Amino acid sequence: MNEHVCRTCGGPLEAQRVTRLQQYAGHWYLIENVPALVCRQCGEQYFTPDAHDLVVDLVSGGGEPVRTEMVAVYDAERSST
Ligand SMILES: [Zn+2]
Repeated sequence: MNEHVCRTCGGPLEAQRVTRLQQYAGHWYLIENVPALVCRQCGEQYFTPDAHDLVVDLVSGGGEPVRTEMVAVYDAERSST
């Protein structure tokens, strides 16, 4: 596998820090500044196994989050009511 080419569009990948949304044990968590490879063409994000492990460690470790945000949730199936 070529680590530096986007699997979706073939564009060049660039190392960046991104915000990742992760579901864990039925709850959603935001993790900021996760190292990722981001496609400069389509914006697709790729995470290394190490970055994924880091995210799981953070959300499963029970440590204090830097802050807590309220998240508004919508259901597209109910948008007509
Ligand atoms: Zn791409």
